[in-house]
Amino acid sequence: MSSQPVNEPILGYTPGSPERIALQAELDRQMAEVVEIPCIINGEKVFTGNTTTQVIPHKHGHILANVHQAGKEEIAAACQAAINAQEAWINMGLEARCAIFERCAELLAGEWRMKVNASTMLNQSKTAFQAEIDAACELIDFWNFNCFYARQFHDMYQPLVSPEGVENSTEIRPLEGFVLAITPFNFSSIAANLPSAPAILGNTAVWKPSRNSYHSNYVLMELMMEAGLPAGVINFVPSSGPDVSDVCLSNPDFAGVHFTGSTAVFQGLWQRIGEALPNLKSYPRIVGETGGKDFVVAHPDCDEQGLLVALLRGSFEYQGQKCSAASRAYVPKSVWGRIGWQLVAEVRKITMGDARDFTNFMTAVIDQRAFDKISGYIERAKESDTCEIAIGGDCDDSVGWFIEPTIIVTTDPNYESMIEEIFGPVLTVFLYDDENFEKTLEICDKASPYALTGSIFATNEEDIQTAFNALRFTAGNFYINDKPTGAVVAQQPFGGARASGTNDKAGGPLNLLRWISPRSVKRTLDTPQDWGYPFLEPDE
Ligand code: NAD
Repeated sequence: MSSQPVNEPILGYTPGSPERIALQAELDRQMAEVVEIPCIINGEKVFTGNTTTQVIPHKHGHILANVHQAGKEEIAAACQAAINAQEAWINMGLEARCAIFERCAELLAGEWRMKVNASTMLNQSKTAFQAEIDAACELIDFWNFNCFYARQFHDMYQPLVSPEGVENSTEIRPLEGFVLAITPFNFSSIAANLPSAPAILGNTAVWKPSRNSYHSNYVLMELMMEAGLPAGVINFVPSSGPDVSDVCLSNPDFAGVHFTGSTAVFQGLWQRIGEALPNLKSYPRIVGETGGKDFVVAHPDCDEQGLLVALLRGSFEYQGQKCSAASRAYVPKSVWGRIGWQLVAEVRKITMGDARDFTNFMTAVIDQRAFDKISGYIERAKESDTCEIAIGGDCDDSVGWFIEPTIIVTTDPNYESMIEEIFGPVLTVFLYDDENFEKTLEICDKASPYALTGSIFATNEEDIQTAFNALRFTAGNFYINDKPTGAVVAQQPFGGARASGTNDKAGGPLNLLRWISPRSVKRTLDTPQDWGYPFLEPDE
């Protein structure tokens, strides 16, 4: 049994540090080239000629890559490659498979770190710190801890009893067929984890990356191949969502989907899987982590400076494009009277611009569609009788898709920006009368269909417990006196229920259990030679 991994330490990127110098050099290098990104099918690069460009969100005139899109033919070839690769992959055994993914973690912690971080900064417009905690640390942790957890199943799930003359055992098999990994733009770590978590257990995968993270995701695909991933185990197919679901779901060997993205897309997929069921060999595993409307509830007696910091970081880091980002807050009027203006003053200090300028706290949102959607919410709030823009509200898409960090204060707890996922740097605050703490918890629980993350800020244990109980099903990741973002692998396994997903907890062993289909084996050492039973004997 290998020893328990430790979380990857986060590098600081302070001025003059070796990591900052190395990252800046790598950013310059990547800025100076335009990469041709192929599909990777059965370990081969496939240049389809049907290309799309990948631009930098904070400088959308700059092309980072030309990406060769897979059509239906290539997607079908990727499915077949995954099916063909599975037997040899299973036969390699868990230890050899883990060795490959642990090698991936080692490469990412070492010589590949700056390449992956720089690519994530440019492709998804992350600051150095946001890239480091995502693309480096979280992914290194996913790979190391998933291997550790997978080894544990082999011991943990063996039968308790083998009577004399019998040997019972459980074979930890993967699913039969291929897993379709459909991944979001916002975390490079999630993108690589969705195909590789099932692969550790002996599954093979078709990986459909988001069209907004092809560059960084391709770098990670290259890294996995360098670590020794055999051909066909993970097949990288940049392609349209509808094409992928058409081809993969109509393949009888489709064994499961590992999805992270928006609720609407996941619900559509689930329905399509239901329709496809009669043609499938197995009941597919459906694992999806989806949207959020993550909350912060403050009690009148709370750490007000801590609340301010949690609201600012939780709402605006990575431009609010974390599924866990704080986007609605319930604050007592007395508390807001003391910290509201201070929060506004601090948000005014937030620096925003190019990710390569390390003094920026924020950069741009991911694409024109996101920009239009988020600015639409802000414009409607400006017009609304129940809302006031406390800070921010300006948007500029001339160079990059920039949206100012924005706080809306509303008198309506059911206003659209209090209940719908915006996925941008917009925090809406509902101010409640101090005596209505419990009623406010009820409003928070009922207002939105999502249940991903949330925080309670309170000083007294009794108030914390009241919130803990009232919000039991309102968040799959619950924080006490902290911001609702920043879950760490092996510390806070991540996921929510209700409209936020199947809550299979990425970064914990429960997720991995979805990718196995055990076989129970009974070996009899003393095989019966006579078909009769004693009870058949006649009475004396
Ligand atoms: P998205 O739903 O737009 O896209 C996710 C993936 O689905 C992409 O690869 C996309 O191309 C694909 N897709 C789109 N339409 C499809 C279709 N018809 N068939 C098959 N695939 C299709 O999401 P996004 O903008 O990339 O990511 C943001 C969303 O992801 C937010 O809603 C966020 O809350 C969610 N998210 C959730 C978690 C979590 O753990 N709960 C983590 C990260 C992101």
